[in-house]
Amino acid sequence: MRRLCLLLIALVAAATSPLRAGDRLDVVASFSILGDFVRQVGGDKVDVTTLVGANGDVHVYTPTPADAGKVAAAKLVVINGLGLEGWLPRLVQSAGSHAPIVVASTGIAPLHDGAEADPHAWQSVANARLYVANIRDALVKADPANASYFQDRAKSYLAELDGLDREVRAAIAQIPPERRQVISTHKAFGYFARDYGIAFIAPLGVSTETEPSARDLARIISQVKAAKIPAVFLENLTDDRLIERIAAETGAKVGGTLYSDSLTGEKGAAPTYIAMVRHNIKALTSALDHP
Ligand code: ZN
Repeated sequence: MRRLCLLLIALVAAATSPLRAGDRLDVVASFSILGDFVRQVGGDKVDVTTLVGANGDVHVYTPTPADAGKVAAAKLVVINGLGLEGWLPRLVQSAGSHAPIVVASTGIAPLHDGAEADPHAWQSVANARLYVANIRDALVKADPANASYFQDRAKSYLAELDGLDREVRAAIAQIPPERRQVISTHKAFGYFARDYGIAFIAPLGVSTETEPSARDLARIISQVKAAKIPAVFLENLTDDRLIERIAAETGAKVGGTLYSDSLTGEKGAAPTYIAMVRHNIKALTSALDHP
């Protein structure tokens, strides 16, 4: 009996063993933007694996068997929440993972599109600061020995995000108010629109799952003409043809690509969250600030 007890204790200890000095904390993030936040705070004390990689679409992702292995090995799983990762609960269950799941959007005030929560809260830099604070607290809890390391890194990254928020506001201020309206592919910029005062109209909803009907498209085309919307934008995760058709039928110019739900690889235009926001404000201002 005593031997059995010791064996059980050993098994439990193995399953929840604390990190040894020098070990990196294995963290899985559901998509690339969260992966970047974890890297910014976790530095070289974490090994970050991103499930939906560069230019991937987190709305319609199908997990692979390799993803189950990554989740099974993780000590911490970081997700957005707000209904973004509908595929995640089944993956966590099939991986048999008991790692804590951190919902990075905890504490933000969600916007809604009809009855559906809008998951794209990271497009507000103020919200991104909350994401980073949540991730910092989760890392500290998972690896208390490195608490001050995570806290210091979070502090300097949060200061960078403060600067980024000011940059966005200064850039938008250069655009004449009547030109602060654009078309993008799906409703990914609701929080950006709320915080920074640019109106976004999109043929697809807050998810990329459903195609717009011919009637939806006709409605948008007449809206673009009536409101004299100056520019339409492509996104890095959806089909370009829809936006190209709207541009062709309305005479609005294609203002380039906005990065909404996904970063690019290292050599792309948006390898980090900060680079992504900077790219987007540059694309918006160069398409909108003069006729
Ligand atoms: Zn989206």
